[in-house]
Amino acid sequence: MTIHQNLIAGEWVGSDAVKNINPSNTNDVVGEYARASADDAKNAIAAAKAAFPAWSRSGILERHAILRKTADEIMARKDELGRLLSREEGKTLAEGIGETVRAGQIFDFFAGEALRLAGETIPSVRPNIGIEITREGVGVVGIITPWNFPIAIPAWKIAPALCYGNTVVFKPAELVPGCSWAIVDILHRAGLPKGVLNLVMGKGSVVGQAMLDSPDVQAITFTGSTGTGKRVAAASIEHNRKFQLEMGGKNPFVVLDDADLTVAVEAAANSAFFSTGQRCTASSRLIVTEGIHDRFVAAMTERLKGIVVDDALKAGTHIGPVVDESQLKQDTDYIEIGKQEGARLAFGGDLLKRDNPGFYLQPALFTEATNQMRISREEIFGPVASVIRVKDYDEALAVANDTSFGLSSGIATTSLKHATHFKRNAEAGMVMVNLPTAGVDFHVPFGGRKGSSYGPREQGKYASEFYTTVKTAYTLA
Ligand code: NDP
Repeated sequence: MTIHQNLIAGEWVGSDAVKNINPSNTNDVVGEYARASADDAKNAIAAAKAAFPAWSRSGILERHAILRKTADEIMARKDELGRLLSREEGKTLAEGIGETVRAGQIFDFFAGEALRLAGETIPSVRPNIGIEITREGVGVVGIITPWNFPIAIPAWKIAPALCYGNTVVFKPAELVPGCSWAIVDILHRAGLPKGVLNLVMGKGSVVGQAMLDSPDVQAITFTGSTGTGKRVAAASIEHNRKFQLEMGGKNPFVVLDDADLTVAVEAAANSAFFSTGQRCTASSRLIVTEGIHDRFVAAMTERLKGIVVDDALKAGTHIGPVVDESQLKQDTDYIEIGKQEGARLAFGGDLLKRDNPGFYLQPALFTEATNQMRISREEIFGPVASVIRVKDYDEALAVANDTSFGLSSGIATTSLKHATHFKRNAEAGMVMVNLPTAGVDFHVPFGGRKGSSYGPREQGKYASEFYTTVKTAYTLA
């Protein structure tokens, strides 16, 4: 099997390889991917540092052309790349292709942004002096990504980093190197100069840590767990560098008595269980007022009975497997914790056998949960959700906000008054009315509050806040 190598200073290097395993069929090896060392990471950082002066001054048409070409190739290969994604991560093929299209759209968006770079001119308070305010690339940006969106998250970090003139050292999650390798290969062939984008696949504790420890990395953007996010923050403060964190969620989805039951059930099922519940925007707390509670639980249970859990690549599969054995253990441990805490397992939670060996888990729905239980407070990151019964809207809002996280928040209601109040008062970066908590557009800001996020928003034009630094220049006329 050919080894997919790391890209350092424009050269493909590395021979020590790791197998990428398909979670739908653990006998299927998706490919072999080089494992970088800490020295490889240092070489990649040095290459990115050397490439920065020229790239930061490169013409906007050059950046536009490379990003545009990348978008076009991703779109042209969406079926193949979507299949690779589903094979390595376990999302359904439809979800894999959808995420790939989104990655293409992101590159397309930032290809456009490269042509829209602008500054401001402002008169000085002193006569005959002009002031220009411009944005410049920050320098070497370290990009550390998780396994749950193997192509979209790398795309939404790499595209703006390059667009605004930064050079990049990119470390994808070791579990899903395939899509990351593919987009780096596409960008490399699209004409990026040597050293502008470097790929170092490998362990977070080795490669990621080497990036955190380097004084030559001027900014780090990270998506993943709260624990690793805190390490990124501490190391970045130590080095006085910019950092941006997207971490977990415990996103609430409120269902009010006046909700359209079909809309509520569809949005809740999608929020909690699609993509195997492995989305930071997934909802795992379904907060339901007492007038609709029993009808909602009955309808949700019926909906769950119709959900097919199977091989991600198989036609008719609604939910693929859990990403790997350790995440499966985390999910089933939490199901046990929920039972011990006194919640009632109303549906699912069993391990499932399918044609091929894989990490198949039936979606689990708890009822009679309280917001104080661990299953309501800690991120599970699997197809496990709890129904929390509340008296009325006021209690629902209070419970929704009673969490250390604040990424996404949803409500099902036909009341304009409650929808408006919820949009204003939900303590979250994103609010959804009669829509799933997950599923966001690529051209608008993405991010949260409280323990979910730190630093400027990602995506859309707001991405420039993180990937640029502002310069104020004064000139005597
Ligand atoms: P991690 O935070 O460990 O992984 C995220 C990224 O950080 C990976 O690329 C990882 O590398 C890297 N990393 C790990 N350790 C270090 C380090 N010391 N220095 C620098 N980088 C490092 O999350 P996991 O993948 O282990 O998932 C654990 C839990 O995190 C999940 O169960 C879920 O609760 C949460 N999570 C949340 C996500 C979100 O989008 N909010 C996404 C993914 C996970 P590598 O994996 O290659 O070792």
